[in-house]
Amino acid sequence: MLSEFDIIRTCFEQEGLAAIPGDSVIQGIGDDCALIKVPANKMLAFSMDTLVEDIHFPATAAPGLIASRALAVNLSDLAATGAKPLVFTLGLTIPEANQPWLEAFAAGLKTMAKEFNCYLIGGDMSRGALTITIQVQGLVDDGQAILRSGACPGDRIYITESLGCAALALLMFEGKLNNVLPEEQEIINLAFYRPQPRIDTALTVAGLVSAGIDISDGLLADLGHICEQSKCSATLDLTQIPLHPLVEKHLGRAAGLSKALSAGDDYELILTVSAAQEPSFLDAVSVLPEKFTCIGEISEHNEAQKVSCIDENGSMVRSTRAGAGGYMHFQGDD
Ligand code: ADP
Ligand code: MG
Repeated sequence: MLSEFDIIRTCFEQEGLAAIPGDSVIQGIGDDCALIKVPANKMLAFSMDTLVEDIHFPATAAPGLIASRALAVNLSDLAATGAKPLVFTLGLTIPEANQPWLEAFAAGLKTMAKEFNCYLIGGDMSRGALTITIQVQGLVDDGQAILRSGACPGDRIYITESLGCAALALLMFEGKLNNVLPEEQEIINLAFYRPQPRIDTALTVAGLVSAGIDISDGLLADLGHICEQSKCSATLDLTQIPLHPLVEKHLGRAAGLSKALSAGDDYELILTVSAAQEPSFLDAVSVLPEKFTCIGEISEHNEAQKVSCIDENGSMVRSTRAGAGGYMHFQGDD
């Protein structure tokens, strides 16, 4: 039976996963605290996300995929802030010390850690229902952080790439999708377990956008968060919302759109851009591999209609109050 210390040493302290002391990391795994030196003129950005089995992923999911999703959703918060990934800590609660499971989990973390240059600097372990808590830390130049609160009326609303594929994955996991080709299954599976944190995008546009957020709860809910924090409203042109091609194929435009609006987990970015900055923004993002689509505009604050949706006939077909329309863990919470 592996002890806690065996697990840490063999699985988590390995090369390519554990942070190596250097310019920023003064002390990694092994002491009471990890130590980071924050360079002058930088701010430390940190964020935490917890994934619980059967709420955020099926308990039977492959451990490497659970790991990649856990780190990806955290890195996405750094992207939404315009911060460059630095290190992360891992709080791991497991029902038993299953070595093959732990090794595959660590391998999944390592792949992501290397890709995003963000290494493990410490953590904690406990026994219980499988729960993964990761806290990421990143660096952002003073005054350059992308906040939810900076949007102004007239700003254009952009999103990265396309929406709906993570919701499609949930339907697939529940056995509610038919005729999915094997190569499509792979794409849909990875959309859920390996969302792309838009770090390069965020670092490219940090000084050019007025506000930003990553889509974890659904487009309406997350745009609603920008509206709340910025004391604005927003209008979305439904004809412009880019759906993932497999969503169009398997659900059709209308049902796919409904998923894109209300289902989360895509981890694309919503970015608002002033008219004055828009040419520079478009110029800057033109070199990036992701697609950027303008899907609407920020408007003056309107309490009754935080986010309004306009259809192809120019009719308002849906509106929300802020905070409504996304996944909520505790019914009645606001
Ligand atoms: P303490 O008893 O002081 O809380 P621990 O015995 O829990 O310390 O942890 C010993 C060292 O191992 C610490 O540096 C801690 O950050 C690290 N550690 C513990 N659990 C993990 C983990 N899941 N991943 C990475 N490092 C871990
Ligand atoms: Mg401890």
